[in-house]
Amino acid sequence: MPTNLVLIGPPGVGKGTQAALLVERLGLLHLASGDIFRSEITAGTELGLKAKAFMDRGELVPDDVTIGMMEARFTSEVAKKRGFVLDGFPRTVAQAEALDCKLKSLSIEITRVVSLEIDDEIVVARLSGRRTCPNCGRIYHLQTKPPTAEGQCDNCGGALQVRADDNPDTIRNRLSVFHERSEPVLAYYAGLGRLHRVDGDRKAEDVYSDVIEGLIV
Ligand code: AMP
Repeated sequence: MPTNLVLIGPPGVGKGTQAALLVERLGLLHLASGDIFRSEITAGTELGLKAKAFMDRGELVPDDVTIGMMEARFTSEVAKKRGFVLDGFPRTVAQAEALDCKLKSLSIEITRVVSLEIDDEIVVARLSGRRTCPNCGRIYHLQTKPPTAEGQCDNCGGALQVRADDNPDTIRNRLSVFHERSEPVLAYYAGLGRLHRVDGDRKAEDVYSDVIEGLIV
């Protein structure tokens, strides 16, 4: 049986970092809605144009746009892989219901939904220092995980960037959107008996161990 995981958590809790470890160690396919939106923006597509204004304000892109984009990713290609890790989707109950419906039609089951948890104030500190590489996606932090050469990606030499939505006002808005729109998604999956809660305020390796533990419970 392939391992199919959903990672849910506030911005900055480390979903991208955990997803990268899962991809590297379990060979899962990484489907990150935020990354897909950002690549659509970079490519200047119509979808990217629709999403950009919402993203810049730290709001959610409307459900119909997001669900359509993610459904297109769930083809038989996905079913044939070893499994997937969903990162940043679903973020609303309507998205979770649409996902269930789509997966059911493909006879794919979600193995576990992992809730990564952390205090809001720690998120603000984490995201204010976050730097990302636009070429390879590697994530750094000015205090806790700086690159060897300032402003330059260790992996590919790309010029590191501050994400447009990583400024304190937008971060706070994204956090309140998470509490209002995404916490009900946790209740939805808890009701289905699929939720595994993990403390996200620890070293990435410790968080990873707990994520994996959730797969064998
Ligand atoms: P992320 O990279 O996951 O932090 O997402 C960045 C931004 O992309 C979010 O603040 C939203 O504006 C948008 N976004 C990503 N995933 C979703 C989603 N599932 N539903 C709606 N908007 C999303």
